[in-house]
Amino acid sequence: MTEGNGDPAQVGEGTRAVRAGLPVPVKYEPTLPGPVFAAHFHLPGEPTGPYTYGRDENPTWSHLERAIGELEAPGEPVETVTFASGMAAISAVLFSQLKAGDSVVLPSDGYQALPLVREQLEAYGVEVRTAPTGDDAQLSVLDGAQLLWIETPSNPGLDVCDVRRLTRAAHAAGALVAVDNTLATPLGQRPLDLGADFSVASDTKGMTGHGDILLGHVTCRDPQLAAGVRRWRKVVGAIPGPMEAWLAHRSLATLQLRIERQCANALALAEVLGERDEVTGLRYPGLPSDPSYKIASRQMRRFGCVVSFVLPDRGHAERFLEGLRLVDEATSFGGVRSTAERRGRWGGDAVPEGFIRFSAGAEDAEDLVGDLLRALDEAAG
Ligand SMILES: *Cc1c(COP(=O)(O)O)cnc(C)c1O
Repeated sequence: MTEGNGDPAQVGEGTRAVRAGLPVPVKYEPTLPGPVFAAHFHLPGEPTGPYTYGRDENPTWSHLERAIGELEAPGEPVETVTFASGMAAISAVLFSQLKAGDSVVLPSDGYQALPLVREQLEAYGVEVRTAPTGDDAQLSVLDGAQLLWIETPSNPGLDVCDVRRLTRAAHAAGALVAVDNTLATPLGQRPLDLGADFSVASDTKGMTGHGDILLGHVTCRDPQLAAGVRRWRKVVGAIPGPMEAWLAHRSLATLQLRIERQCANALALAEVLGERDEVTGLRYPGLPSDPSYKIASRQMRRFGCVVSFVLPDRGHAERFLEGLRLVDEATSFGGVRSTAERRGRWGGDAVPEGFIRFSAGAEDAEDLVGDLLRALDEAAG
């Protein structure tokens, strides 16, 4: 079956997003076919063909996987494997590619579940090394590793590393490279174009953008690498539900609209935060004064919806969060409704007590900036 899209490489990214993964139109059928709920498929005779058992394949996943692939590498033959969550996707790459005796380089400032992953990898006899994302510090521990795991911009510190440089060095040393692209989404950064072997993401965040489903994916060019990841999904059974997969595909149609607005809002927030005396440690890779701006603007087309900053202490940060009226206090990020939280409440991340991670939603910028300034004034007393 050919795609119902023409050539996704020949259209603008807004057009690509609204048409991504659509099948060839069929008279009297919906444009985006509904979720297929099936544990098994009608299968007389020899058990071959694309759809046999529901843990292996599902047509709703196939549509979504094609859509994500078109966004990750427009017009190129890539393979995408969807998962029940971002962690399922991350684990699929790490545990399908590494074996006892191997070494892997992880970021020391990455997603908060990576230390748990580290424990599990070590229990299986994999050597785990870590280094910070900033200053391309992972280069210094690359020697002899089989896999380099990059997260850029890092979450929640928003440091950025040079993906092309790290990837060249890793490949020269014989290591594969995976990039956690959750924060940027493929409309902000395309890891495969920057040389990575795996583009991995939690689609729970900006990709689906409504804060109502968990999902993840892995995209790669090499069919053999994809086959390993797919095999891992079958073994572990970390499969997305058809309803979630369909909702995700539906949400991709508005990806460009959402991301565009959310990134603009994040920049507007960062600009006003930069003028406040009580704010320190402001980070947004899209702010020209940010230490990451130079490298970020070379490899990113959009800088994400997350802004981080530090208020003087825990009490100040809590008063600020309580004072916000248009922003929900919640973890996670990337949704159309703005959220913010004091990251230190979780423990784990090495951040100051007053550290705020703010995820800009799709509200009107004036409303959002007004709410932020009022809450800052109130918190300052
Ligand atoms: C949320 C997140 C994950 C984990 O994704 P889940 O969908 O919650 O499993 C991984 N990496 C990053 C950068 C994230 O923000």
